[in-house]
Amino acid sequence: MKTIGLLGGMSWESTLEYYRALNRGVQQALGGLHSARIVMHSVDFAPLEKLMQAGRWYELAQLLGDAAVGLEAAGADFLLICTNTMHKIAPEIEARLAIPLVHIADATAGVLVAKKINKAALLGTSFTMEEGFYRQRLTERYGLEVLTPDAAARETINRVIFDELCRGIVSERSRDDYCRIIDQMIARGAEAVILGCTEIGMLLGDRNFEIELVDTTAVHASRAVALALEGVSPVAE
Ligand code: GLU
Repeated sequence: MKTIGLLGGMSWESTLEYYRALNRGVQQALGGLHSARIVMHSVDFAPLEKLMQAGRWYELAQLLGDAAVGLEAAGADFLLICTNTMHKIAPEIEARLAIPLVHIADATAGVLVAKKINKAALLGTSFTMEEGFYRQRLTERYGLEVLTPDAAARETINRVIFDELCRGIVSERSRDDYCRIIDQMIARGAEAVILGCTEIGMLLGDRNFEIELVDTTAVHASRAVALALEGVSPVAE
């Protein structure tokens, strides 16, 4: 089994979901007391969030790049950045590694393409919804059409992520706001909704909609389990 490197803590609430999903996935595949081989670097999110808001991405790339290099040295066979937004600096981090970086948008697109979905709504932080680094990967590499909510809805989604979900707060009111926004996206022709922030599953995980919700935390973790177990037979392990 390969060792999974996790760059976590952004926020730790969703890193916890990764940790659970990775261990659960390996346990389901191999049975018994099996669990995932993981090395993790979990950051203090507060100073990083300030750097993001200040647009100091160069410093973030330095900091997270150093952490990623440390994970490689600690034995990681491949790396996951446990947040969609920080994939803005994925190219800079990837450039410093010899091991592969498993990009969260590739894992997400893989699921959409397999389900023959062409048009998907993207919910995430303002960075993820409004900048090109994520949407363009989906449109240019996979030919997907990506819809984003209107400005007021984007503001609501972003505020709930940073003021509530990243702090472990899950409120009925915010759940209703998200449901209303998803209904608007369905009315605009979305065939699926990308939960393009690793905390949104905490809010909507148990809700049913008439279209598919693709939880990026779940698909990213599931891709990692598949890679970690490539060539592994349950008996041998
Ligand atoms: N975890 C979130 C994401 O998936 C937001 C926190 C961050 O900005 O890293 O985008």
